[in-house]
Amino acid sequence: MSKSEISFRDRPINLDESGSRKWVYAKKPKGLWYTRRTIFSWFVLLFFVAVPFIRINGNPLILLDIADRKFILFGAIFWAQDSLILALLMLSFIMFIILFTVTFGRLWCGWACPQTIFLEMVFRKIEYLIEGDYRKRHTLDDGPWTREKILKKAAKHFIFIAISLLMTNTFLLWFIGSEKWFQLLAEPIGENISNFSIMLVVSAFFYWVYGWFREQICTMVCPYGRMQGVLLDSRSVVVSYDYKRGEPRGPRTEGDCIDCRQCISVCPTAIDIRNGTQLECINCTACIDQCNSVMKATKKPPGLIRFDSENGIRHGHTSIWNTRNRAYSVVLLVLFSFFIYTLLSRPAIETTIMRTPGLLYQENEGTIISNVYNIKIVNKTHEEMPLEIRLISHQGEIRMAGSKMEISDQDRFESTFILYIDEALLDGDNTKVEFGIYSNDELLERYKSSFLGP
Ligand code: SF4
Ligand code: SF4
Repeated sequence: MSKSEISFRDRPINLDESGSRKWVYAKKPKGLWYTRRTIFSWFVLLFFVAVPFIRINGNPLILLDIADRKFILFGAIFWAQDSLILALLMLSFIMFIILFTVTFGRLWCGWACPQTIFLEMVFRKIEYLIEGDYRKRHTLDDGPWTREKILKKAAKHFIFIAISLLMTNTFLLWFIGSEKWFQLLAEPIGENISNFSIMLVVSAFFYWVYGWFREQICTMVCPYGRMQGVLLDSRSVVVSYDYKRGEPRGPRTEGDCIDCRQCISVCPTAIDIRNGTQLECINCTACIDQCNSVMKATKKPPGLIRFDSENGIRHGHTSIWNTRNRAYSVVLLVLFSFFIYTLLSRPAIETTIMRTPGLLYQENEGTIISNVYNIKIVNKTHEEMPLEIRLISHQGEIRMAGSKMEISDQDRFESTFILYIDEALLDGDNTKVEFGIYSNDELLERYKSSFLGP
């Protein structure tokens, strides 16, 4: 086993023998796959920036309002009460990721993950522009602090900080919505000092990740990356080196690999794909482009490094379907069907009625007993509804606090009411009562609660 093979099995490739970080000076990729990836990244970036401003029925396309426990996905609002539907959606998504990874490896990482998109398509491109390609960057970093170096470093980091601030604010739009964001912007910073501080801390974190920590997120931190070992097998289609064609390697050997090491120089995680599929490979395809250009120069067919499975290289077997991903597809289909069913069958409104905490019962004129309740109703339709609450289990009277009950589309109504019942109708000190929520005399929902008496 060669020294490089031993070291790649022994420790992460971007650490030296003492455990210190080795800075990766990746060569700027060039080629058909890189062009495809760049175009795809424009769509991902556009989606990321545009989503909070796209409206469906007046709601943002996606809103993840954790503070209010309100989630909007493609115009449909989900409240905390919809946790089963959200859990099914989440499970379907996880199952989809597993299925996708089993079949295509870390394709997501190289092509759609925000970490890669921002690092490779935004921050790294700025670095290429200001500091040049890998050799120039290496020389600049190793050289003395000249006027040129100070200017280049200052310009790069200034732009990195500005982009980190923009990124944080765009993320914020996904969580608080554009209206609230513009409202915060119009208010003095002093009134929102905590929000402003959080924004600065998150921006500083992004700046640290993209300015310094970089590929270590993919190789050491990301849990999805760590899962590759259990998800991939010999049938998964990943970026692979065709060792049957390439070996024995060397400039004057029979194998097609001339051992130029260009595929390593272009790799953003600095690995040698010729050692086989590795956890650090994010399937970015930079080595495919680089090797294809070497093959062209040496008048060999392209594809020495390509998307293929271990089985594909060893036996020429190319089908992506196997028992494992068929079984995962069935599970995904079941989960997703269940999600669609629960989504379509969810009630028009969802009511919660609870006696006001800390209050027992009140004795009124004659033999009338009263209890105070808090009511919360969520409207899951796109219609504005007049609402009415009636007691359907007993004879009694309901007096609402405040104005009439009305709820706008996909909104929430919260109020308090007092229920009066004659003591003679009670079953003791704790009587089960049932309410009905009506809209235009149509019963929408029944809700059971308790009524305390003497
Ligand atoms: S770029 Fe291609 S030819 Fe050069 S070392 Fe890598 S696999 Fe071999
Ligand atoms: S081995 Fe190739 S595909 Fe994998 S991360 Fe490196 S350059 Fe990208």
